Amino acid sequence: MSTTHVVTHTTVCGLHFAYSEGTIYPLTPCCQASATGSFVQDTPATVCRACYTPVSPVYGVSGTTRPPQVSWLVDSLAQGDCPDPVGCAVHTIWHLTGA
Ligand SMILES: [Zn+2]
Ligand SMILES: [Zn+2]
Repeated sequence: MSTTHVVTHTTVCGLHFAYSEGTIYPLTPCCQASATGSFVQDTPATVCRACYTPVSPVYGVSGTTRPPQVSWLVDSLAQGDCPDPVGCAVHTIWHLTGA
């Protein structure tokens, strides 16, 4: 058993995020796993770490919760059809970090 504590949160707009050791990262819609860089038919791609289905590059990003780095989270929410990316990012961070 890992001792790493991972907190997960699903936004009202349906995206899944996890938080562990100061880093927030998106989880794939198919398996709610993290994404990783790989190759699909010899082309660099972002794939689900659990089932290797290609996913949006949005799922390959992660970042800390420090304010200057929050923009990536807003960007990923905006690309996920979130109606309120900024408010959703703040809520997500609040939920994940308990801050
Ligand atoms: Zn949202
Ligand atoms: Zn998957």
